Amino acid sequence: MTDNIIELDNVVIPFRIENAAVRGEIARLKSSINDVLKDHNYPEVIAKMVAKMVILTSLLGSSIKFKGRLIIQTQTSGPLNMLVVDYHTDGNYENAGKFRASARFNKKALAALETTSDAELLGTGQMVITIDQGGDMKEYQGIVALDNISLEEAARQYFGKSEQMLTEIRLAAEFDKDNKTWNAGGLMIQSVAAQGGSNAELDEEELKEQQIADWENARALMLTVKDNELISDKNDSQGLLFQLFHEKGVRCYMPQPLEAFCQCSVERIEDMLSQFSQQERVEMAQENPKKPGYIQVACDFCGKEYEFTAEHFSQ
Ligand SMILES: [Zn+2]
Repeated sequence: MTDNIIELDNVVIPFRIENAAVRGEIARLKSSINDVLKDHNYPEVIAKMVAKMVILTSLLGSSIKFKGRLIIQTQTSGPLNMLVVDYHTDGNYENAGKFRASARFNKKALAALETTSDAELLGTGQMVITIDQGGDMKEYQGIVALDNISLEEAARQYFGKSEQMLTEIRLAAEFDKDNKTWNAGGLMIQSVAAQGGSNAELDEEELKEQQIADWENARALMLTVKDNELISDKNDSQGLLFQLFHEKGVRCYMPQPLEAFCQCSVERIEDMLSQFSQQERVEMAQENPKKPGYIQVACDFCGKEYEFTAEHFSQ
């Protein structure tokens, strides 16, 4: 374990199990997830999915080392039609670890649900994982079919198929009714190739066997974790890693702070509205029931409202 005293809320921490072919990430979100959710008035079950998706995105995004954005979006048939999180990866300097999130849902369909598992909220459709490096770089896109599965299962399938990497992942989020705040947390481990070091005398086949044994051991330990242990104040991220993997030891690397942040601006909304004809903008303003004569646009991510007259664009 590292000796440094570090902020353990609102960070994702990469780690490695000592002398084992297993790496991972652990994340906790408190004030940062509340910053995102306070801007939206989501029902509790929807807010919980948003929080879990933010954790999932930060676990995946923190292992991407170049400058860019990771966007994970679900589009499905269930009451929760759309869920999207947008995360700035490492290499973005002051923007690294900044994220925003948005969800779209059908109130009637949501009210008709008897239970609210991930699978029932999502239904069927797809999860699209986009890595956008900006500029002229080609976007990378991975797609996972969602067929009544959880977010965790979707992540396992993504790594299994696209990256051929054994992955175990746990996500948890809960509203603390006493303190009226959200807590979210998650843990991911991945099998990596076993390497020399203490295994220097092993041949290729023995290394492979070692890798499998390391993976099965770490996975069995990880599956003992309960949801509340991923978010409880009793045990912080480092404490939980120690509780699970103390037999071999854990090496933690530099934590990545996670912060809610939206890049919407007057200019971006103007750009979006300038793609309509002036006639369309005039009609939008006239037909706005909330404030006739004004075009009002709320950002899907942070809820910030922007307001223009149609004449603003005719100048
Ligand atoms: Zn915004």
